[in-house]
Amino acid sequence: MTKYLVVGGAGYIGGVCVEKMIDRGDEVVILDNLVTGHKENVHPKASFYQGDKGDSLLLDKIFSEHQIDTVLDFAGLIQVGESVKEPGKYFQNNLGQGIDLLEGMMRNNVKKIIFSSTAAVFGNPKEVPINEDADKEPINPYGEAKYFFERVIKRFSEAYGLKYTIFRYFNACGATTQSKEQHSNESHLIPLIFQAVKGERPNIAIFGTDYDTPDGTCIRDYIHVSDLIDAHLLAINIMESSSENEYNLGNGNGYSVKEVIAAVEKVAEKPVPVVMGERREGDPARLVASSDKAKKELGWKPKYPEIEQIISSAWEAEINPPALKN
Ligand code: UDP
Repeated sequence: MTKYLVVGGAGYIGGVCVEKMIDRGDEVVILDNLVTGHKENVHPKASFYQGDKGDSLLLDKIFSEHQIDTVLDFAGLIQVGESVKEPGKYFQNNLGQGIDLLEGMMRNNVKKIIFSSTAAVFGNPKEVPINEDADKEPINPYGEAKYFFERVIKRFSEAYGLKYTIFRYFNACGATTQSKEQHSNESHLIPLIFQAVKGERPNIAIFGTDYDTPDGTCIRDYIHVSDLIDAHLLAINIMESSSENEYNLGNGNGYSVKEVIAAVEKVAEKPVPVVMGERREGDPARLVASSDKAKKELGWKPKYPEIEQIISSAWEAEINPPALKN
């Protein structure tokens, strides 16, 4: 049976990957330091190691105890605003430790990786929708660290024959029956709106209303986490024959912050208390994907393309939380 190492498998997106892989009969090993991941999110049918992806000794132990075919790296810090304030932390975690992971793979002759990158590598795009060839000029350390790591992967591919697939996620959201979006120190729009609806915070602040967009608020491309993972599972099938791949993953539809708030109001059938706030540092006005390449080459088709479907799944998990796995 093919074995996969899912780094960051106790987190939100990695957790959905583990869930889907185990459901289809794969054998899964998780490496997660539980800094942002949750112990109770570790799938009971996966082997679990707690530690950093930069821990060389631990990597050697995992690779000697398991015959790993492909590494899927979901682990990383994800807050744009924090990355502007604490850049070292982002370069160290998302770039430095990523290099340690690759070195560990090469030492142990593991030659396939699927890496979770981000739309933030594009910075302020010149054109939307954004395709894979668009200029990569990140405007915050989060996007920069991810972009630098993409480059590192490509150099490893040239030097050692590493096969890779890079996925650039746009705004991952939504829930499955087993996993929902939950971050300590929540910074993401949809979970924060839910907190405001439930009275757990006084309101949601809209970060900037003077952007060059129709309603003045930032536009993003929201993509269901289950659809994101489906693209990974399709990519695994072609990695053997096609060794260098990169894809943008989004729905190709942009929604403004105000539109997302309106969609939550509709789904939850409750008003959202809103205040107008200042712009957040490092936020581009518009990020919308062209996912044509993933559709064409992987045969990928999002099952939940509408914002209301995505928010409904997330809201359902909010009012009826998935059972703990452990
Ligand atoms: N946003 C907002 N208020 C919040 C959190 C986020 O207006 O409390 C906006 C943010 O400026 C961005 C969009 O919502 O335009 C999505 O932000 P999020 O942090 O969810 O994802 P990102 O686009 O940074 O990956």
